[in-house]
Amino acid sequence: MQRHLITGGAGFLGSHLCDRLVERGEDVLCVDNFFTGDKRNVAHLLGNSRFELLRHDVTFPLYVEVDRIFNLACPASPVHYQHDPVQTTKTSVHGAINMLGLAKRVKARILQASTSEVYGDPEIHPQPEAYWGRVNPIGFRSCYDEGKRCAETLFFDYFRQHRLEIKVVRIFNTYGPRMHPNDGRVVSNFIVQALRGEDITIYGDGTQTRSFCYVDDLIEAMLRMMDTPADFTGPLNIGNPGEFTMIELAERVMSLVGGRSKLEFRPLPADDPRQRQPDISLAKQAIQWEPKVALDDGLRETVSYFKTLLSK
Ligand code: NAD
Ligand code: UDP
Ligand code: UDP
Repeated sequence: MQRHLITGGAGFLGSHLCDRLVERGEDVLCVDNFFTGDKRNVAHLLGNSRFELLRHDVTFPLYVEVDRIFNLACPASPVHYQHDPVQTTKTSVHGAINMLGLAKRVKARILQASTSEVYGDPEIHPQPEAYWGRVNPIGFRSCYDEGKRCAETLFFDYFRQHRLEIKVVRIFNTYGPRMHPNDGRVVSNFIVQALRGEDITIYGDGTQTRSFCYVDDLIEAMLRMMDTPADFTGPLNIGNPGEFTMIELAERVMSLVGGRSKLEFRPLPADDPRQRQPDISLAKQAIQWEPKVALDDGLRETVSYFKTLLSK
């Protein structure tokens, strides 16, 4: 049995990770400042003696004794990470320094939840790990993109300088139950709008693409990555290569939900990447993983989650 620290553990991905680890019989310390996370995401675990919840902001030092750290703390939706951009960079950078300092002191293995945003608006398609990306350093998305890039730099410098056991995963757009209904990301927006009979907000002309991974597939990949041999650091892309335009996504959501929503076109946010698709060749080889859940099946689960949530 290992003692795990999950920062950002009350968020969308973090809470699913807490579930899986507790199910596996591991000890879990969930740390969150509840900026975009919610206690309700982990409320069902509170009675479990293997689970602890601590309100804490990772930009401040944290002294605990653990064997493994999953560093997920950071708002992930553009609306939220741009709300207080200075805090976003601090969370990524100071948060990474503190968690790496902790990992160094207690000799813990540490995994960073990085992002496909490190590739920016990519000129190479699909994106392999070797691609260095095309990121605007001074735009509205930079607090997140550059914050995450700097966190990767810190991880690799602690690896080289202090011989830490690091794992870096670059997560592509992931969706599923427990996304925040006002999260602002496209899947939750479209589903909530369709369920409320509101128009579906398409930013730009809707021909930009994303590749959507269902949360269960993603968590399986993160757990496998954490268990890889010590010399495997990544970075490792994880995501579903199925690529869709936002119009296609809207049509699928509307056909699952029914109703009479129409498409409403709004201006495209600045620096919104045109296209995104993970090259997962390395994941197939290194962790024998590829996603199993098709978009329609994952959307069905997510629609049913939001239906229950909105009816409360
Ligand atoms: P989320 O917003 O639901 O979760 C982030 C969690 O971090 C929240 O619970 C939030 O309260 C917490 N948090 C934020 N700042 C904090 C701080 N300073 N101290 C402590 N806790 C803090 O988002 P998510 O989708 O679950 O994302 C989790 C991680 O995965 C993030 O690091 C994100 O960048 C990364 N990621 C997610 C996706 C995706 O599509 N879901 C894609 C790429 C990367
Ligand atoms: N740190 C932490 N918990 C620990 C050990 C360190 O939060 O258990 C923080 C501490 O605030 C420190 C940072 O991690 O500033 C980086 O630690 P490191 O040992 O790498 O550097 P230093 O202490 O020399 O700044
Ligand atoms: N988007 C959209 N309507 C929405 C929310 C988002 O058309 O209501 C678009 C957004 O402009 C982007 C894509 O959907 O092109 C994915 O956006 P999201 O914020 O989910 O993730 P990211 O841009 O970080 O990949």
